[in-house]
Amino acid sequence: MLLKDKIAVISGANSGIGKATTLLFLKEGAKVCAIARNIEKLNKLKEEANSQNLFTFVCDVSKKDDILKTSNEILKLFPEIDILINNAGITKDTLLLRMSEEQWDSVLDTNLKGAFLLTQAFLQSLMKKKNGVILNTTSVVGIYGNAGQANYVSSKAGLIGFTKTVAKEYGKRGIRCNAVAPGYITTDMTENLPQDIKNKIIENIPLQRLGTPEDVANLFLFLASDLASYITGQVIEVSGGLVF
Ligand code: NDP
Repeated sequence: MLLKDKIAVISGANSGIGKATTLLFLKEGAKVCAIARNIEKLNKLKEEANSQNLFTFVCDVSKKDDILKTSNEILKLFPEIDILINNAGITKDTLLLRMSEEQWDSVLDTNLKGAFLLTQAFLQSLMKKKNGVILNTTSVVGIYGNAGQANYVSSKAGLIGFTKTVAKEYGKRGIRCNAVAPGYITTDMTENLPQDIKNKIIENIPLQRLGTPEDVANLFLFLASDLASYITGQVIEVSGGLVF
């Protein structure tokens, strides 16, 4: 088991990539504190995982009060956490000319500010064993850009800068911080893409398929484990080789 007795906090854990990562981390021996807003989906995750090592928390990562309350509850249970995954994310796509301030703010508040708030809340705990891991879910579009997603792309590009900065600021405290950049992964977030667009995307993927949440979870597992103990400040694509 690669994560035996490690304590992990994962945001956006009740569906898609976060859920697959939660289930894999449990299998690998970790205790997981799973964060998301929708309690029904969190309860479903609990049923599916059927594990005493899973702890669920209703929390909106864009709200500072929610984060303070949830992080206090988690730190009471586990004063020394080992792994934080900032994975919660939303899209509100439209062309820049039509983008409202609300569409901009809500995406930036969830995807980028949420990661800042959660990281700040857990940083001291992560430093205690001098072996903390922070992983952020960015996106290939945060590297290459994408029409119709100025808000989302800005949040994901911001996460890359955040990742590299945390790596530099806290490396000497034993913290590794890396970003995972998925390509197109089949989750709730991408389920509404029309089939013809999916086919076009697949044409640009050397491995000729969309990714699965498990493809991304496997990378999180590697980066969270001691196998990656000399890797920090990196952005690693998990995209089937998608060419932009
Ligand atoms: P999902 O929509 O399945 O998962 C998003 C998760 O984020 C859900 O668990 C959702 O739960 C949670 N979430 C959303 N807003 C908040 C909030 N304010 N507070 C707490 N939790 C929140 O999509 P994915 O699994 O695909 O997305 C996971 C991450 O991967 C995101 O950051 C996304 O941007 C990124 N990504 C996805 C790609 C893809 O192709 N699918 C490609 C590249 C990156 P709830 O609604 O209950 O809060």
